[in-house]
Amino acid sequence: MKAKDATMNLYSQSLHYGNGVFEGIRSYATSDGTKIFKAKEHFERLQHGCKVMSIPFDYNWEELERICYELLRQNNLQDAYIRPIVNAGTNMGLQSATNSTLSIQCWAWGKYMGETLLKVKTSPYKRPHPESCHVEAKVTGHYINSILSTNDAKNTGFDECLLLDHNEMVAESSGGNVFMEKDGKLFTPKKGSIMPGITRQTILELCDELHIEVEEKGFTLEELKNADSAFFTGTAAEVAGIMSLDDYLFPLEWKESLGYLLSKLYLNLVQGKKSESTLLA
Ligand code: PMP
Repeated sequence: MKAKDATMNLYSQSLHYGNGVFEGIRSYATSDGTKIFKAKEHFERLQHGCKVMSIPFDYNWEELERICYELLRQNNLQDAYIRPIVNAGTNMGLQSATNSTLSIQCWAWGKYMGETLLKVKTSPYKRPHPESCHVEAKVTGHYINSILSTNDAKNTGFDECLLLDHNEMVAESSGGNVFMEKDGKLFTPKKGSIMPGITRQTILELCDELHIEVEEKGFTLEELKNADSAFFTGTAAEVAGIMSLDDYLFPLEWKESLGYLLSKLYLNLVQGKKSESTLLA
């Protein structure tokens, strides 16, 4: 149905207390037609989120993928963003609602051609403590943290924020994972305080295929401000190069960095150019 004709339950627990779970998925025009990138991984994360938040959800990923393809077809979309959201049903109390509704929205999301590098600010806000909530789940309420830190960065003239975790270790941005390059090797924070991004995992797999050395390991802000280059990864932003962090300028030319190479490989992959030779073309 048209979004303008849909209704929302005013007593939904998601609306009042942020107990909803969502996903952000991309589809791409490829030589084999429209392809949704890593639908299984996204829907499994959605299922996991519902499970940990005790929100009833009984679709399987194949069924959800079919629905998404049908939604794209009916909207005549190829390069698109797909937003499934599971909203908890009526409950003004604080135990999870016993029913839920799924909606899936989609909109056009064109190819990003530019290579504008980001000016990043270290956020005064920390990522939520992993013992306070399920940070690995894409729960609507968690995004208050991303909104606060994005507002702070944008209001002070930056493009994006970088958040530390409760141990003062580098965590991630408002909606993406972070990688740094030092002496030809990549580092990315290990799982624990971060959203385990599907793009992050894809980058790790690409590095493995191409024998690029990469380590999942905690690092400090000081270490990051001594790196040669850095980038964020996420479904929406894909691979986004970072120009500076606070007043530190990353010294390596972006086009000479591993991040730049991986950004090209990632685009080839999502557009369905799979073999290693075409990946490097
Ligand atoms: N971190 C946060 C906080 C996010 O919201 C996202 C987007 N889901 C990511 C990282 C990147 O995840 P993905 O690569 O799966 O989009």
